[in-house]
Amino acid sequence: MATTPVSQELKRGGAFLIAATEPEDVFTPADLTDDQRLLGRTLEEFLAKEVVPHIPELEKHKEGLMPQLVRRAGEMGLLGASIPEEYGGAALDKISMTVISEKLSVYPSFMVAFGASTGIGTIPLIYFGTEEQKKKYLPKIATGELLSCYALSEPQAGSDALAARTRAVLSPDGKNWLLTGQKMWITSGGFSDVFIVFAKVDGEKFSCFIVDRKTPGFSIGAEENKMGIRGSSTVPLFFENAPVPKENLLHEIGRGHIVAFNTLNAGRFSLGASCVGGAKNVLAIAAKYAKERTAFGKPIAEFGLIKTQLGEMAIRTYALESMIYRTAGTIESAVAAGTDKVKQAMQVLEEYAIESSISKVVGSETLDYCVDEAVQIFGGYGFHEDYPVARMYRDSRINRIFEGTNEINRLVIIQMLMKRAMSGVLPLIPAAMKLGEELLAGPSFEEAPSGPFAEEEKSLAQAKNIFLLAAGAAVQKFRDQLANEQEIVGALANIVMDVYAIESSLRRAQKSAAAGAESSALMREAAASFTYDAMDRIEKEARTALAAIVDGDTLTTQLAALRRLAKHAPVDTIAIRRRVADAVLAQDRYPFEGR
Ligand SMILES: Cc1cc2nc3c(=O)[nH]c(=O)nc-3n(C[C@H](O)[C@H](O)[C@H](O)COP(=O)(O)OP(=O)(O)OC[C@H]3O[C@@H](n4cnc5c(N)ncnc54)[C@H](O)[C@@H]3O)c2cc1C
Repeated sequence: MATTPVSQELKRGGAFLIAATEPEDVFTPADLTDDQRLLGRTLEEFLAKEVVPHIPELEKHKEGLMPQLVRRAGEMGLLGASIPEEYGGAALDKISMTVISEKLSVYPSFMVAFGASTGIGTIPLIYFGTEEQKKKYLPKIATGELLSCYALSEPQAGSDALAARTRAVLSPDGKNWLLTGQKMWITSGGFSDVFIVFAKVDGEKFSCFIVDRKTPGFSIGAEENKMGIRGSSTVPLFFENAPVPKENLLHEIGRGHIVAFNTLNAGRFSLGASCVGGAKNVLAIAAKYAKERTAFGKPIAEFGLIKTQLGEMAIRTYALESMIYRTAGTIESAVAAGTDKVKQAMQVLEEYAIESSISKVVGSETLDYCVDEAVQIFGGYGFHEDYPVARMYRDSRINRIFEGTNEINRLVIIQMLMKRAMSGVLPLIPAAMKLGEELLAGPSFEEAPSGPFAEEEKSLAQAKNIFLLAAGAAVQKFRDQLANEQEIVGALANIVMDVYAIESSLRRAQKSAAAGAESSALMREAAASFTYDAMDRIEKEARTALAAIVDGDTLTTQLAALRRLAKHAPVDTIAIRRRVADAVLAQDRYPFEGR
């Protein structure tokens, strides 16, 4: 393993693509403190006792029940988790926040309602509010006296949020902003008291406002009839010359996009974290069913094809969980390094926007994979609403759509990397040039890495090189027009995500092995299996991209280089999936919990 010291610039967001990260630099679930573990158990109990028994009524929108349960979380101090102590909050660290997102996702409708108020509905106030605004709203949000939500999307402006048509004009007496327009899909809008609303001042300058529920001219539409997360409230909002006091402008006129996008960075990471909990939950349910259900005279859990499904669910969840807690640890240590925690937190979220988008995309796609396999394991019963996996399947689907669709997040990952590369913040260009020289020089006879993780370590280094090869070719050809080549950008983003997942899985397994942890052998196998499959995906994505970027002799040369880089020794992933599935079945749950 490389041991070059990591410079400051290589601790930056996206730097994992070129920097060497040591296992001890990576936070893992085994590093959770006793308090964080206790928080997790308390949340599990809260969900099991207070929320899960009400799911049938919540799914039918029983009047007042969801806000009542969210307020119950407030009584436990959870609604103020991200709010600074001076405004009545608990100012919990990022890792505890990650534990909360993970645990509450057992019932996604509740997680979404909780997240709307504590996350995207509060973060704009914490980071951008004036002292008066913070004093007025945050202490009441912390107790649940006020619930808040975030209103950015409009019927004609979702992904393209800056195309919003809602307008704000100053009233003739100069005391109010008069808002006119419509918002769409607003989570918790049906029962919130405070609305963070984006509108364009004079139809031009994108800005943000705090709107109270009782504002005249402001009305809330009927609940949408949704495919999933039916227990959550999703409504349109209507504004007709609605007067919002002048002092309720949040941040500066024309700087609303800064509020919107910084908030989304935080939301995206939390969404990824919540998918970890969802994936573990559905795995446990599928495993239990597989043991109980018999076919051809034996439990279906004994069939190889069921084991491969359970094993792969656990392996992908392991990779996701590894990257989520690693990111939480990175964010937390960067925030803790600052003196003004609030200011620092906002800068850190922006710094790790790439990792947040990765968490969102990998989280939502891993959970979708797991719920889909769970429906399959349940067979016909998976298709029936009397069994839990049908709702989980429906509930999962939204994650790929909100907080920026996965297409938009893939574009964001590469746009941000390119911006940092071009400005020299991330030395990706020198790294790509160095790789070019090495490839021209022919095969290296450097000593191959040895030891228990040697093959995976080699794959990780080569995966990073494959990104540099493909991205380097793309930038050379398309330069500042690369954003128009979305299919290539998508392929590059897929490589970046797999690189981060491989490294996170591997470093966690290495850290566990170094600590002599009981489960480290199985963890190592999970990391090996994930890496093996990811390398095949990475090679395929790079091949697709290169074929669209270059042709003729250049393509032949580039593909030869790719083949060399992508070479990896065979791994018996069938046997590994069986062993991981056996561990799931033996423990009736995800086998790497807290490890
Ligand atoms: C249940 C639910 C809850 C929600 N909660 C909230 C909330 O609380 N607050 C809020 O403000 N919003 C909320 N939203 C809105 C959500 O964020 C948007 O639906 C989402 O951003 C997508 O916007 P859209 O629906 O207009 O789709 P569109 O933007 O029309 O996208 C349609 C398709 O086109 C793709 N596409 C769009 N632009 C591009 C591009 N440049 N390149 C490639 N592909 C592109 C998209 O990826 C998607 O596949 C919620 C939505 C739902 C369904």
